[in-house]
Amino acid sequence: MSDFSDFGDLADIYQEVVVDHSRSPRNAGALEGPTGQSEGFNPLCGDRVKVFVACLDGRLEDVRFEGNGCAICTASASMMTEHVKGKPVADVLDAFHRFHEMVAGAETALDDEMLDKLIVFAGVRRFPARVKCATLPWHTLKSAVEGSDASVTTE
Ligand code: ZN
Repeated sequence: MSDFSDFGDLADIYQEVVVDHSRSPRNAGALEGPTGQSEGFNPLCGDRVKVFVACLDGRLEDVRFEGNGCAICTASASMMTEHVKGKPVADVLDAFHRFHEMVAGAETALDDEMLDKLIVFAGVRRFPARVKCATLPWHTLKSAVEGSDASVTTE
């Protein structure tokens, strides 16, 4: 389950919005009749997340997740679902790349307006082990959208 003490060492990425999402995850729970789903595992932290998607006519109509991860992973999954729900699949994959570049340290990504609220996760770039907590839901989403049922691991 979420461990809020995680934030003790991570004051820089402590953000009200992250805490809020980790405590009250949006779009949590299984999705009935998904067109794709995938499961992700981050052995470094122990995060597990399952992402369900419903794509129709090139659009991500619905997305939900189930997870058992740390606060950062849960908040990332929650904010990810809010960000991508209803978007064209091409934009969803674009968001994956932008998010990945941002947490990997690309400076230009800090001015990326397309990332909107997700920019709060830029702080994890200083904590390499935490990057995987934040990106795990995104890798899992990408796999689900691309129709692969294979499980994802950050290792
Ligand atoms: Zn984690």
